[in-house]
Amino acid sequence: MKIKSIRRKSLLYKSGVEYADYSINHVEGCAHGCQYPCYAMLLAKRFGKIKKNSDWIKPKIVQNALELLDKEIPKYKHDIKFVHLSFMTDPFMFRHKDVSNLSLKIIEKLNKNGIKCTTLTKGIYPEELIDAKKYSNINEYGITLVSLDEEFRKTFEPNSAPFQKRIDALKFLHKKGLRTWVSMEPYPTPNLVKQDLLQILKKIAFVDKIVFGKLNYNVQSSRFENNKEFYEECANIVINFCMDSGIAHHIKYGTKIRDNKKTVVIFRNSGNSSKVVDKPLMCS
Ligand code: SF4
Repeated sequence: MKIKSIRRKSLLYKSGVEYADYSINHVEGCAHGCQYPCYAMLLAKRFGKIKKNSDWIKPKIVQNALELLDKEIPKYKHDIKFVHLSFMTDPFMFRHKDVSNLSLKIIEKLNKNGIKCTTLTKGIYPEELIDAKKYSNINEYGITLVSLDEEFRKTFEPNSAPFQKRIDALKFLHKKGLRTWVSMEPYPTPNLVKQDLLQILKKIAFVDKIVFGKLNYNVQSSRFENNKEFYEECANIVINFCMDSGIAHHIKYGTKIRDNKKTVVIFRNSGNSSKVVDKPLMCS
């Protein structure tokens, strides 16, 4: 699908979001149209970038993204530990080849400059990522997966990739020796969907790392009677599963009843640890 484009004055920025270092949003808007709601969409509205929800699902690509990177990489290179794509859009937006192609070019450029990338998507990873001549094997590729129920997906993530297709694409990268992870955030309460957390975990037992977090900003979910106890129990299931399976895990701040950690290290760095302030995850 051909999409509109915009020009920007800058691209790379130091993020304050949990488990990020530097980040890039090379697209404005996101066709997935998540109804959790999408925090990035709420911010875009608040800052006047869009007027209504329907504007958000008509993404606009940053046409001068690569040009900007050429200027910004030399400037920030020595400060960057890794770059995350993306917190305010989806780098592998389902059925948006223009977005995926630009994301691939960005990852290639960053990797060529010795900069590691972490990515997160509700789309499908392209197989090109296994090309070791272009993309570094220290990148970490993640999908968001909070359910296996396609009816739930059609309601809450209407234009995203089907769950199984996301998992298959991630497994392909894993089988080729690349690092993979899953963000189970925002995990829904049982009044939104009844499901077996362990069944979902078993589907993704091949990954290197799982991040689990509660659903915020959703009125229906916060009205769920045993909200705190529910997330406490889920977090314990995730922790036990990961420990038994040798998978690294992180429970997002505020998900467990007694979790007061303010700083976390989620992505591996070559040498330095990255301590980042805990804030809600926006996307993807
Ligand atoms: S994938 Fe992320 S940016 Fe896109 S609509 Fe969903 S929450 Fe928003």
